[in-house]
Amino acid sequence: MTNDVQQAITLLQNAKHICILTGAGISAESGIPTFRDKQTGLWENFRAEDLASIDAFERDPKMVWSWYQWRRNLVKDKQPNPAHHALASLQQWGKTQGKTLSLITQNVDDLHEQAGSQVTHLHGHLWKNKCSQCDAAYQGEIDYSQDALVNCPECEAYIRPDIVWFGEMLPSGAWQYAEQASADCDVFISIGTSSLVYPAAGLSQLAKSQGAKLIEINLHPTHNPLIDVVLASKAGEVLPTLSAALL
Ligand SMILES: [Zn+2]
Repeated sequence: MTNDVQQAITLLQNAKHICILTGAGISAESGIPTFRDKQTGLWENFRAEDLASIDAFERDPKMVWSWYQWRRNLVKDKQPNPAHHALASLQQWGKTQGKTLSLITQNVDDLHEQAGSQVTHLHGHLWKNKCSQCDAAYQGEIDYSQDALVNCPECEAYIRPDIVWFGEMLPSGAWQYAEQASADCDVFISIGTSSLVYPAAGLSQLAKSQGAKLIEINLHPTHNPLIDVVLASKAGEVLPTLSAALL
């Protein structure tokens, strides 16, 4: 076991409140393409930035909805990897130790839930839908095998994915929870996300300013000078090591 891993274990043992933020890297280890990857197949000539916005949806709702239906089909058979399972075990361990472990994700898939974690989504949910006009949650079934637009039963406007698009605010409840958890924690861990880019940067800075130690788990570390412990590994390798040492 390396010194860095040992240091992380000691920090987690001594922490009362732990805040964990996950990003695209942890889903990539389950085979979910990251947002920044070049798109493939049908959509290779489009940029995500040009599809994931309210402007794009208003201009061409069918195109944007079709893209999401395609993405849902890419993701639907993907499964949690050892990193997701280790985080679920750590959350359980926290409960038995009288610690709180707040798990927050920037990912829109449900792999943390599938692994059994309680998680707060900052960027919405790929599998939830809402009205593009009246904002009502859509409870009806969606047939993911086809891309026909769906109308809101309340106002008849088109249903859209309940995902935070470019230019949109993060959901206020989720953001408040994330800020509170970051401000209250003794240890803040960012996993598979750049700790230099908003919103992770803001949350890790907030944690640091309140005296927390920062751990970054990233195959390609972001060289953020605020980080106390860098674990330059796959999350699916290092998290099971941490959880095995702690449990
Ligand atoms: Zn509506």
